[in-house]
Amino acid sequence: MQPSADSLQIGNYIGALMQWRDLQDSYEAFFSVVDLHALTQPNNPSELREKTRRTAAQYIAAGIEPSRSTLYVQSHVRAHAELAWILSTITGFGEAGRMTQFKDKSQRYGADSASVGLFTYPVLMAADILLYQTDIVPVGDDQKQHVELTRDLAERFNSRYGETFQVPMPVIQKDTARIFDLQNPTAKMSKSAESDAGVLWLLDDPAVSAKKIMRAVTDSEGAVRYDRENKPGVSNLLVIYAALTGRQIPSIEDEYAGRGYGDFKKGLAEVVVNEFGPVRRRALELLDDPAELDRVLAANAARADETAERTLGDVYDKVGLLRRV
Ligand code: AMP
Repeated sequence: MQPSADSLQIGNYIGALMQWRDLQDSYEAFFSVVDLHALTQPNNPSELREKTRRTAAQYIAAGIEPSRSTLYVQSHVRAHAELAWILSTITGFGEAGRMTQFKDKSQRYGADSASVGLFTYPVLMAADILLYQTDIVPVGDDQKQHVELTRDLAERFNSRYGETFQVPMPVIQKDTARIFDLQNPTAKMSKSAESDAGVLWLLDDPAVSAKKIMRAVTDSEGAVRYDRENKPGVSNLLVIYAALTGRQIPSIEDEYAGRGYGDFKKGLAEVVVNEFGPVRRRALELLDDPAELDRVLAANAARADETAERTLGDVYDKVGLLRRV
């Protein structure tokens, strides 16, 4: 994730972190806070540093274990930027221009403020993935095209220079895990939402989260029933409830049958506060001791370096760069 906000939102938690946490059981996992990618948007330097720490602290608080997985800051591992350069030399201009996220973002920023870095963003992402000889990449649907590009680049490099990269597979996160804005339940909940009222922040005070849930947009039917099309607000709350409790939606509908939205929202607020209370406390504890957090991140970056440098060295040899002796 990019360190683009002081706090992650509950969509990041349900749509990404919970699934990443589970992947640690069956894979050797690499997780990174992608600060180099964040530079493609305007940033205040000291805020970027702080957001990088905060994002890492929230990964750990949510259950990413830096002693078991490798959790590091992208810019700490120099090989990312270096491999991105090599990969950019085998990426077609037209190929990069077809990336829909670039087209969307550059339209939003205006042609003059979209940078070359934004254009080559997917190439840096390809480097992030290929450096670790990655088998699978868990991503949301919106990142599928970037992983396809990564696969194309890996295959192209391999056929031009000989077997070098593992060709990764995207694992698309379930759409049921998509969380929508509480005030505007047809729009994805996002760190960059215009209004704060519809976003549940991981680091929000529990009382604030509860209040936001009580004020979430619903409908006039009054029945707690999943119907994404006609009842997007209630359906979204049901998805959050189910994701955080591990329960099935019909069992939650049964529990609240014949009861109003007020009761349902109170129940959900309790679930959210119980889940995020400890995560928030742990994150704030970690942020209270930035020196220790930095030390953990440095040790993990050193571990990431070992794999990344091996891949990069191989790439440099294959393309014909003279080794420094
Ligand atoms: P972003 O903050 O958009 O860069 O997303 C970081 C990660 O969180 C990605 O894996 C997204 O797919 C996931 N994510 C972000 N927002 C949501 C959401 N509203 N619902 C589900 N997953 C989300």
